[in-house]
Amino acid sequence: MPKYIFVTGGVISSLGKGITCASIGRILESRGLKVTLMKLDPYINVDPGTMNPYQHGEVYVTGDGAETDLDLGHYERFTSAKTTKFNNVTTGQIYNAVISRERHGDYLGKTIQVIPHITDEIKQRVKKVAEISGADVIIVEIGGTVGDIEGLPFLEAARQFRLDAGHNNVLYVHVTLIPFIKVAGEIKTKPTQHSVGTLREIGIQPDVLICRTEKPLIEDVKEKISLFCNVRKEAVIEAIDADSIYQIPLVFKNQILDEIILSHFNLICKFSDLKDWGKNVVEPALKPSRKVSIAIVGKYIALQDAYKSIYEALIHAGISNDAKVEVEKIDSEDFGKKSAEKLLRNTSGILVPGGFGLRGVEGKIRAIKFARENKIPFLGLCLGMQCAVIEFARNVCALKEANSTEFRPKTSYPVISLLEEQKKIKNLGGTMRLGSYPCKIKKNTLAYRVYAKKLIGERHRHRYEFNNKYKKLFEKKGMVFSGIYQKKNLIEMVELKNHPYFIAVQFHPEFQSKPDKPHPLFREFVSAALKIKK
Ligand code: GLN
Repeated sequence: MPKYIFVTGGVISSLGKGITCASIGRILESRGLKVTLMKLDPYINVDPGTMNPYQHGEVYVTGDGAETDLDLGHYERFTSAKTTKFNNVTTGQIYNAVISRERHGDYLGKTIQVIPHITDEIKQRVKKVAEISGADVIIVEIGGTVGDIEGLPFLEAARQFRLDAGHNNVLYVHVTLIPFIKVAGEIKTKPTQHSVGTLREIGIQPDVLICRTEKPLIEDVKEKISLFCNVRKEAVIEAIDADSIYQIPLVFKNQILDEIILSHFNLICKFSDLKDWGKNVVEPALKPSRKVSIAIVGKYIALQDAYKSIYEALIHAGISNDAKVEVEKIDSEDFGKKSAEKLLRNTSGILVPGGFGLRGVEGKIRAIKFARENKIPFLGLCLGMQCAVIEFARNVCALKEANSTEFRPKTSYPVISLLEEQKKIKNLGGTMRLGSYPCKIKKNTLAYRVYAKKLIGERHRHRYEFNNKYKKLFEKKGMVFSGIYQKKNLIEMVELKNHPYFIAVQFHPEFQSKPDKPHPLFREFVSAALKIKK
C-alpha cells in the first residue's frame, strides 16, 4: 500500500513549498524508500506552456515532453524521481477530462458536480501516479495558498484521500510563515493559527508544520504553535532562512522529520545520516574557494523564476568546480542602449538562454558576437543556439540579412526555419518539439570531450530548427556541427574551433542537471570561464 503526503501552503505564496516537498523526498529516499512527487495546480490553463514566464516562471519540460510547473524541476534535482506528464495536474486538465466524459455520455442521467466528480478525478490522478511510478511514498504538493477559492476542490480531494486510504497511509504537511515584526522585536504565530484554522474548517488537520522563519523558533513559540494548531510539538519544524536551498534536507533531517513521517506511516527503514549530500553538495555550495562571473543575457531577467533551472545548473557547475558562480543578469534589450564591451567587460562567461519572439533577439546576437570575437566562453541554449547561428551567418558568412523565420518570415537567408510538419500546426498548446530525443555526438569535437559519450538524450521545447541548406557553407567557414538527431537529420549542437569554449545546443541541458551530478555542458562552461583572466 503506497503512502501519501499532501503538502499545502498557508499565509503567503512563495514559501518554498516545492523545495519543502523535494527535501522531504530526499530525506525519505535516503532511508531506502522509492519516492515520487507531483504538483496539483489550481489554475485553469491545461498546462503552463502557453503562459508568459513573467506570469508563471520557467516551464519545466519532463523527459516524456510535458510542459510543467517549475517545482517538478526541484523534485528531479533533489531526488531520483523521474517525473512525467502525469506528475503535474491542473484544474484545466481535470475539467477537460470530466467535461469530455460528460459529452461522451459516460455519466448519463447524472448531474456532474465538484463533489464527487471533480474530486474523484483528482484522486484518480494521484492514484495513477502511485501506480505508474511504483513509489512507496507519493508526495503531493497543492499549489496556491490555503483560502484560495480555486484550490478548494484539491483540498477537498486531499481530505477525502485519508478517508479512503486510511489514517496511517496519509500525512498532511502544512508550510507556513512565522513573520518577525521588527518594531516589536517579536515573531508572530497568529497568521499560522489562522491558516491552520482555515485548513481545519475544510476538514484537514495537519500532522506536520513547516515553519518558515527568519529567526530561530524558541521552545515557547513552538509550544504555542503546537497548542493552537493541534500539532505535536516535535512535528513543528523550524525552517529558518538558509544560504542554500540544498541545506533544507539537512535542516529537516536534524529535526528528525524523516522519523516523524516514518512513524506516522508505521514504516521501519534503514538508517541514513545524509552524509554524502552534506559532503558533496552542501559543504562545497557554502564554502567555495574561488569565484567566477557569468553573464546571462536574456529578456526575462527581472523575474528570478524565469530561468530557474539555468540558475540551478550554474550553481551545480560551481559546486563541482569549487567556485561560487556569480550570475550577472543582463537584459538583452540593454544592448540597444549600451555597447557590448561596456555590458560584458567584467564577465568570464556568457550564457544566452531560450526564449520566444523578436524582442531582445538583436541584443543576444550582439552578446554572442562579443563572446566569439573576444574568445569568452559561451553557452547557448535553444534560442541561444539559434541566435549563435544567425550571428555566424551575418558576421562570418556575410549573409547580412540572415534571420530566423520566427522573427522575419520573409528573410532572404532563413538560417533558422520551420520544418514542414510544424507549418501545419494551428494550436499553440503542447505542439512544439517537446521532450527527450537522442542525439549523436561527432568524435573529436568539444561536445564529445564534454560528454565523453557518443549518444545522449536531451529535452527539447522549440518549434524552429537549423536550416540544413546552410550546413555546407557554415562548415566551410568554420562552424562544427557536433550533435545531430539522426532520424530526422536535425542539428542539435554547434560549436567553433579556435575558441576556448563556444558551444550552443538546440535542447535544454539545464533540465537534467543535479547538485550532485552537474550537467557536463555547464560544468565545463564554468571550468572554461574560470580560466579566463579578468
Ligand atoms: N523560439 C524558438 C523556437 O520556438 C526557441 C525556443 C526556446 O528557446 N525554447 O524554436
